[in-house]
Amino acid sequence: MNNVKPAIIVHGGAKEISEDKVAANHAGCRAAAEAGWNVLQSGGSAAQVVEAAIRVLESDQTFNASLGSTLNSEGGVELDAAMMDGATLGWGAVGAVQGVRHPISAAHKVMEDKPRLLVARGAERFALEHGLEMCAKEALISEEQYQEWKEEAEVVDRPNTVGCVALDANGNLAAGTSTGGTTGQAQGRIGDTALVGCGLYADNRLGACSTTGDGESIIPVVLAKTAIDALADGSHPDKAAQHAIDTLMERVEGEAGCIVLDRQGRIGWAYNSQDMAVAYMTADLSEPAVFTRKDKDPVHASKAEQ
Ligand code: ASP
Repeated sequence: MNNVKPAIIVHGGAKEISEDKVAANHAGCRAAAEAGWNVLQSGGSAAQVVEAAIRVLESDQTFNASLGSTLNSEGGVELDAAMMDGATLGWGAVGAVQGVRHPISAAHKVMEDKPRLLVARGAERFALEHGLEMCAKEALISEEQYQEWKEEAEVVDRPNTVGCVALDANGNLAAGTSTGGTTGQAQGRIGDTALVGCGLYADNRLGACSTTGDGESIIPVVLAKTAIDALADGSHPDKAAQHAIDTLMERVEGEAGCIVLDRQGRIGWAYNSQDMAVAYMTADLSEPAVFTRKDKDPVHASKAEQ
């Protein structure tokens, strides 16, 4: 396939982004899109691109994934992540894991091993046995999240899930999503992020999608698969993404967002939260286009953000 136009899009969650956090959201999403784009440029597979981009977001406390994750009812961090390969419909997921520095890498390894959702101690053992970076479970608790939890503060700038979808030079699509879950969630809760069809979907015949938002609302409308199915009539990914969010609003309550890439490399996203951090990169651009609101012009790295 020599007419494939490789592309990557990442999100840093559907949420309300306060003015003082806009620059950090832009910078994090831009860095993730650049990291993924570099892997694409060096001939990496879509799954490798997704892992590379999400690892950047997981390392950034601005986002609710790995370091900086929101705390559960017990004051702990429990992480969910999943990956899907559009060529084979292969998938892998981990849920409620602690002390795994990059849950997206664990999900990728599970996918390469055999498709399944591994949770808690079993997932942690799998990560350890496969040589992934482990850490003390407390090491993923950021000072800001701990203070908010301790004070039970009203979380205005609720951190949110991260995700990425990519189309590589061979025409393969992949999707990945990683999260610390919802603020104060019950210990052991696993949301949409770990569930294929809900938190992510990838099928080379149509497109790939990663979602963010209220898991308990995303699950019953199978948000990612709803967006991908809407591509079947040739609709633009923007329209498919909006259709998925409209379906969520019609059928259940809740906030969500999704990013969509189709097999031609066309890009789209939609959300019903106030803001959503997004960055994308294609060969037509000299640098990633970065947004926290879709209706505003993209922010360019060359224009200094103070
Ligand atoms: N979707 C994630 C969950 O429900 C959280 C989020 O995106 O805010 O676990």
